[in-house]
Amino acid sequence: MILVLLGAPGAGKGTQAEALSAATGAAHVATGDLFRAEISAGSPLGVAAKQFIDAGQLVPDEVTINMIQARLAKPDAADRVILDGFPRNPAQATALDAAYATSGRSIRAVLLKVDREILIERLTARRVCPSCGRSYHLLNRPPQASGICDVCATPLITRSDDAAETVAARLANQLSALESVVDLYRATGRLAEVDGVGPIEEVQARLAVAAAAAGLTA
Ligand code: AMP
Repeated sequence: MILVLLGAPGAGKGTQAEALSAATGAAHVATGDLFRAEISAGSPLGVAAKQFIDAGQLVPDEVTINMIQARLAKPDAADRVILDGFPRNPAQATALDAAYATSGRSIRAVLLKVDREILIERLTARRVCPSCGRSYHLLNRPPQASGICDVCATPLITRSDDAAETVAARLANQLSALESVVDLYRATGRLAEVDGVGPIEEVQARLAVAAAAAGLTA
């Protein structure tokens, strides 16, 4: 099955998808991470995607859909997958449904709900490790040593698209598209909603219940 984890930027999708993947053994596939890896590698795809990502815009559908289909064709994604950051608009959701229409593979969605004010506060306080990808929050999830990754000791950075001037544009661009995707899964009876506010472990427990109800168990 494919569990689509939906939420605005800053809703906690990455952190929660990682924990859910560790708890269930399902593959965690995050389009943002795939793009950042392509950018680090300096690939043509990365070069094409970077300008959109830095501007807080979505990367064009054709590029994104091709990239995700190639990732989902890998052996570790053959069974259970947690999709994080895809689909982000109705065209992507329709492409995902079409890709598995005849396979009998179920596609269900869970929305992590977080208010806009909290999203802005979370995004501007976010720091990430450019080496291993772990994400921190200056107040809620600080690293043990200031500015240094707990896992690999690399100096932490602010993501270019988390810069204060980009955050508002990114949210405005992406919230309306998210709402359309949420509507699409809701209309087809495939949506569960989880309160994404509170301690990470509490959200994790709520998400585990919703994921299990959708068919994703350990
Ligand atoms: P994320 O790490 O999920 O916040 O993604 C970082 C950036 O990558 C987004 O702001 C977009 O520019 C781009 N991106 C990630 N997923 C998608 C997607 N499904 N469609 C288009 N662009 C995406």
